[in-house]
Parts: sequence; structure tokens; C-alpha cells
Amino acid sequence: MLSRVVVVGASAAGLTAAEALRREGFTGELTIIGDEVHSPYDRPPLSKQILRGAWEPDRIVLRPDALLADLKASWMLGTPAAGLDPIGRKVVLADGREIGYDGLVIATGATPRRLPFGHDLAGVHLLRTLDDTLALRDGLRSARSMAIVGAGFLGAEVAAVGRESGLEVTMIDPLPAPMIRQFGAELGGLLAQLHQSRGVNLRCGVGVSALTGEGGRVAGVELSDGSHVTADLVLVAIGATPATSWLATSGLRLGDGVECDQYCAAAPGIVAAGDVASWHHPRIGRRRLEHRMNATEQATIAAKNLLGAKIPFAPVSYFWTDQYDVKLQVYGRSGDDLDFHIVAGDPTEGRFAALYGDGHHVTGAMAWNLPRHARLLRAHVANQIPWKEAVAPISTNVGG
Ligand SMILES: Cc1cc2nc3c(=O)[nH]c(=O)nc-3n(C[C@H](O)[C@H](O)[C@H](O)COP(=O)(O)OP(=O)(O)OC[C@H]3O[C@@H](n4cnc5c(N)ncnc54)[C@H](O)[C@@H]3O)c2cc1C
Repeated sequence: MLSRVVVVGASAAGLTAAEALRREGFTGELTIIGDEVHSPYDRPPLSKQILRGAWEPDRIVLRPDALLADLKASWMLGTPAAGLDPIGRKVVLADGREIGYDGLVIATGATPRRLPFGHDLAGVHLLRTLDDTLALRDGLRSARSMAIVGAGFLGAEVAAVGRESGLEVTMIDPLPAPMIRQFGAELGGLLAQLHQSRGVNLRCGVGVSALTGEGGRVAGVELSDGSHVTADLVLVAIGATPATSWLATSGLRLGDGVECDQYCAAAPGIVAAGDVASWHHPRIGRRRLEHRMNATEQATIAAKNLLGAKIPFAPVSYFWTDQYDVKLQVYGRSGDDLDFHIVAGDPTEGRFAALYGDGHHVTGAMAWNLPRHARLLRAHVANQIPWKEAVAPISTNVGG
């Protein structure tokens, strides 16, 4: 039986794991270590409601103080973990303190990638934390033009907020269309049209070679085709890498994240969950997901398994993104290596749903402003319906 559990990472996955441990009857010492000073908060609204100014930070706290207190945990916030000794079973903090454990949850999330240049200029932003968002929000209020490096979901969401705030927005990506790797060429093309129709200057198929500055402030972006984009605000949104640097000498297997088995276990007495975890999905193989719902679902299973259960983690993943008035929802596996077939609605009407498949079975489903269809099609993914059977239209009535 465990008597001391340490959770490293005080956000969606870390908090959920702590709550699951208590719910499952763990009564021992619980310590939660987090490098941010804030109580756990939700990240998806950062690039949406918070950035837009529609919500203030108090709206995104994950739990009220009273519920956090019910956990009866020791909170060590504002303190990064700097090392792990899995033999001596202790976490070493950046200030030198050592915290012993007999069960450990690793939930340190991901860190934004940086360009190899330009981050010393004022007006150049990354977006991962509440503090990042508040700084970018301040920037949006005084800027006239914004360049976004990277047309993934984060860049695309910020482009939408930028246009809604009246800025000139240029979004730059070396790939041919926004989010093409995640969603494939057809959906990428529709996203490109969406952004262009809202006035975004979309520069796809071209890289960034430098950020230019004047007097220490960013002035624009130099592109690999020799052109220059003027911008007094730049967001670098080129993806994130799992936050594993503190584990570098731990001996844990670190590939694309902390490598875990199908039970989310990285080593005896150690589990990982959320954006930092790469685990073996029993049906589809090794995976690491940067999805909000995955953080909750995986942390719940990881915590149960830490306490002795043996539950394989085999979710139908779920991801959503909000851009302008479009809600895009995706279940399961999507991507540019898969077939894509529209089964309901029509893109020209601004509402449709489609399936992804590997030629044999349905692997994923997406809906564009059709939440009801998203939920219906999830079952096709969960049941791995044969592709031929699934691609017949499910309904001509696109009620929502
Ligand atoms: C701006 C933004 C918008 C998003 N929008 C969506 C969306 O619309 N839909 C969707 O499905 N997903 C979205 N996501 C992804 C989703 O928020 C993440 O998948 C989720 O937050 C992952 O939770 P996590 O707890 O694993 O990691 P995180 O939320 O990253 O939390 C990890 C925590 O660990 C801390 N930490 C890191 N290293 C250390 C250390 N050494 N010591 C102590 N603490 C450490 C971090 O500072 C952080 O507080 C968005 C993410 C961002 C950043």
C-alpha cells in the first residue's frame, strides 16, 4: 500500500490524478508540485475567451479553494522539480529540497517550441500559460499588425482573435494549409478559406528566416522566399515538446514524452499522464496527445493503476478548436495519411461532418458546427465500423 504520493505538475492532469487518488481511497501524504504560482487553471480558454477579453482569469480556475482544500494535499507551487531519483524514490526541487515518495505521478505537460532567433525582441510572444496570455492580450490592445508563425490550432485560434480585435493578421506556415498534418488536405483547405475570408493574410508553403527589430522591438518577419511581413506583434506558435528536461538523468525512457506502457506506467511506482505522457494505446500503438480531455481521462486511469488496478488506457481521443464562429470537433485519429469522406451537411453551408478511415475501418470523425453529429459519429470510431459501410450518408437533416 502506498503511503506517500507526489504529483509533479499542478494543472489538468496533475489535479485530476490527485482527485482520483483520494476518490479511490488513498489516505496517505499527498504532495503536489507545480512550477507556476497559480492554482490549477484551464488552458483552452487562454487562446479564446481570455485572449479576447471576454473572460477574466478567475473564470478559468479548475476548482474553487474549498475543493482544493478537501484534497488535504501539500501544495508546493512556484517550485519546479529539477530532478528525479527513481532508485532513492525522491523528487529533487530546483531549490535543492528533496521530496520522498513511494508513488509518483508525472504530469508536467509540454513547453512551447521557440525559434532559434528573435525571442529577445519585445513584442515576440509564446502562448502556453496564463501569464503568456495576459502579456499577449496587452500586446493586442496596442498593436496594429500581428504575424503568427505557425498555423496549427493555437496560431489559427489567435489569428481569429486578432482579426476580431481589428488587427492586420498574417499567418505563416511552411506546410500548404493550416492544420494539414492533424486534419489532412481537405479540411486544411477549408480552414485556409475560412481564415482568408475573414481577412487573414495566409502565407503557406514558406518558412521564417528571421525576425527583424527596431530599437529592441520586433518590426516584422523575414520569410524564406525573401519577402518581409511588417508586424508590431509576433506570436511564435510552432508546437510544443513534452516537459521532460527535469527527468534527463532519471533513467526513465524519454522518447516523444515519458514512455509508458498501456497502463500509463513508466517504471514501478511511477505513472505519467497528460501532454507529457507517451503511452502504448492497446489498439493503435504508441501515442502522445496534447488534448484537454485526454489529460483528464488519462490521469484518472493512471491514478487508479498507481494504486494497483490494471486498466489499459484505450480512449477514443477528443479534441476541439474554436475559430471565429466555427467549432471544430474531432474524435479518434485524423490526419493527412487517412481517407476523408463527408457524410453529413455541406462545407458551403458552414456545417458538415466527415469520417476518417484507413481504407478498412473508420479511425476518426470530425464535425464543423455540427455537435450532435460529432457525438453520433463517435460511435463509428469506437466500434471501428468498416469504412465501406460507414461512408453512406447518415442523415440529410443536419439539425445540429
Ligand atoms: C492556449 C492553449 C489552448 C488550448 N486549447 C485546446 C483546445 O481548444 N482543445 C483541446 O483539446 N486542447 C487544448 N489545449 C491543450 C490542453 O490545454 C492540454 O492538453 C492540457 O492542458 C494538458 O494538461 P496537462 O496537465 O497534461 O499539462 P499542462 O496543462 O501543460 O500542465 C502541466 C503543468 O506542469 C508544470 N510543470 C512543467 N514542468 C514542471 C516542473 N519541472 N516542475 C513542476 N511543474 C512543472 C507546468 O508549468 C504546468 O503548470 C490548449 C492548450 C493551450 C496552451
